[in-house]
Amino acid sequence: MPGLEDLYREIILDHYRTPRNRGELPTPPASRADGHNPLCGDEITVFVQVDDGVVTDVKVSGQGCSISQSSASMMTQAVKGKSLDEVRALVRRFKGMMSIESDDDSPMPEVSLGDLEALQGVVKFPVRIKCATLAWNTLVEAVENA
Ligand code: ZN
Repeated sequence: MPGLEDLYREIILDHYRTPRNRGELPTPPASRADGHNPLCGDEITVFVQVDDGVVTDVKVSGQGCSISQSSASMMTQAVKGKSLDEVRALVRRFKGMMSIESDDDSPMPEVSLGDLEALQGVVKFPVRIKCATLAWNTLVEAVENA
């Protein structure tokens, strides 16, 4: 029987090989942000369409390592159709899983990470954490630009 680590590796590879919501959105009405992780060479552009406080569409383009690209693919799946409040909760929860300190000391929001759980093993490799969080930081920037 495959272990949890094998399952996680499969999920990451699946999103890397078959990225979801790949492409671009017209700006405007969508907004965009560019993210770069110089430590690894990862580049990600996030396009986000926000209508009445809801992320109605999101697309990602760019290139980089399997962690950065699969995290971006999972991120698009996780935030599409969510309200900005839900997106903020998800960002905080994901960064919490990545052991990133927050100055927000309110209780951690109870939101499901779904496939994103597969990235929790990345915490063991601190240099890769920036790969995993790149899409999320870029998403936050794109939403701020909206
Ligand atoms: Zn990387």
